[in-house]
Amino acid sequence: MTAAQVIAYIGIGSNLGDARSNAQQAILQLAQLPDTRLTAQSSLFRTAPIDADGDDYINAVARIETQLPAQQLLQALQAIERAFGRERPYANAPRTLDLDILLYGQQKIISDALIVPHPRLTQRAFALIPLLQIDPLIAIPGLGPAHGFAPGVAGQAICKI
Ligand code: AMP
Repeated sequence: MTAAQVIAYIGIGSNLGDARSNAQQAILQLAQLPDTRLTAQSSLFRTAPIDADGDDYINAVARIETQLPAQQLLQALQAIERAFGRERPYANAPRTLDLDILLYGQQKIISDALIVPHPRLTQRAFALIPLLQIDPLIAIPGLGPAHGFAPGVAGQAICKI
């Protein structure tokens, strides 16, 4: 039996090395995941780090259609992060690549490894604004329309590049 297709949104961030190239390459890697199709990608955005060190971030969001279960998708994203040389020397350290599952269909997931919808999605312009660029009318399971949270992040610097 074929697993169901799920529409998932992946948050992408980089602020170490060639951040713009890292983000673009990461999107290409997402398109190569097994049983997965890349169906949309946002522009790249430049954002100031929040609660973190280092240079400005380059952020984007990708929409995929995937048959990978959420935990397997997370493992695949972590493998891509490692391939980009991601190290985790301390919390919120600068990173060559950060990949987060923002939304996984309509599902709400709370496990040791995974919380979906991503708990900071509604509070971070770098995730919310690219998501809304792809799908302005998207709803966040349990929380309602994503655009309702945009005024709350209006004070965070974010600029399309
Ligand atoms: P980070 O340092 O931001 O890459 O956080 C990675 C950690 O967050 C990993 O240990 C993941 O298991 C955990 N995590 C929890 N929820 C999510 C999510 N929705 N997407 C990605 N990582 C998540």
